[in-house]
Amino acid sequence: MKATAAGHTMRAVLVPRHLRAAPPTRGQAVHRQHGQTMGTTWSVSWVGVAGVDAAAVRHVVARELHIVVDQMSTWEPTSSLCTYNSAPACTWVPIPDALRGVLQAAQQMSQASGGAFDASAGPLVALWGFGAQRGHGEAGFAPPSEDTLARTRACCGWQRLRLGADGAWQPGGLQLDLSAIAKGHAVDRTCDRLRALGLHGVLVEIGGELRGHGTKPDGQPWWVAIEPPPGSTEPAPVLAAHHVAVATSGDYRRGYRDTSGRWRSHTIDPRCGRPIHNGVVSVTVVHALCMLADAWSTALTVLGPESGLALAQQHQLAARIVAQDRHGVPREVTSPAWRDLLD
Ligand code: ADP
Ligand code: MG
Repeated sequence: MKATAAGHTMRAVLVPRHLRAAPPTRGQAVHRQHGQTMGTTWSVSWVGVAGVDAAAVRHVVARELHIVVDQMSTWEPTSSLCTYNSAPACTWVPIPDALRGVLQAAQQMSQASGGAFDASAGPLVALWGFGAQRGHGEAGFAPPSEDTLARTRACCGWQRLRLGADGAWQPGGLQLDLSAIAKGHAVDRTCDRLRALGLHGVLVEIGGELRGHGTKPDGQPWWVAIEPPPGSTEPAPVLAAHHVAVATSGDYRRGYRDTSGRWRSHTIDPRCGRPIHNGVVSVTVVHALCMLADAWSTALTVLGPESGLALAQQHQLAARIVAQDRHGVPREVTSPAWRDLLD
């Protein structure tokens, strides 16, 4: 945040360096549609163009969201991902193209983050009460014993997944969870199809992850407020979502207090098999692809402020990490690429 001479804090404004000239759209209206998907909400805003009505937009959104859920959901027992998860050991399981693309991206993310991002952490996610079966709020749920944890960890590991011409290799007991990357991919593919339909100015959002293109009729970009961490008294920074995506992971959003009063986050550190315990409150990443903004925000959440910031810097990622210091006070650290976006 910047301070004015009078001592007031000003809202931080983030603007991508490369602004693209677009045909003027003055006189056109901005339209909006919204709905529900993947246990959260979606919305699309767009600048009207001749020949594309709301029904056409809804049709594209419904089709793209259906593809993602049908292929990548761990909550739909008939999805391609669930079919893979329940396949017999030592078999090649055919996988559709979109799923293959997201699995490849997930594997690259695991490699780049030293295993902090790991789609194979599904059984650990479930063990701590965040899976499709027996959630932490349900009767009979108990956190895992050391024994169970050790046995479950032995089944995980992104290196166990192989992708080949015949599909994905199920070595036995590998349970993939794409919840930290699929929503971002859904934003990307919806955005791509809507642009292919002829929309120039468009903003797509699913559960807070979003990507924007072009400008509004008044020439302004889509301004989006970046979620401030809870308790923050500073004004939320705003981003010009102009040919960029942004995703925020928030530890405080989904989790629970166990019987000893300890906060259990839905983000798991696959390297120890337990919910993160590194003081991270929220991570925001700005990236051209929403899929990677989504996945990186989870990876940096696991890595924490020091290692996370170092990796963000190495990959020239625009990232803001808010973490509690020793006294429980939230402090933010930002990468050089993030500071480049600041006015
Ligand atoms: P957030 O907005 O906090 O990033 P997401 O829904 O995007 O939340 O991703 C969190 C989900 O990803 C978890 O609920 C879990 O299913 C899965 N997950 C948890 N830890 C990891 C991890 N280390 N790597 C990949 N996926 C994870
Ligand atoms: Mg995420």
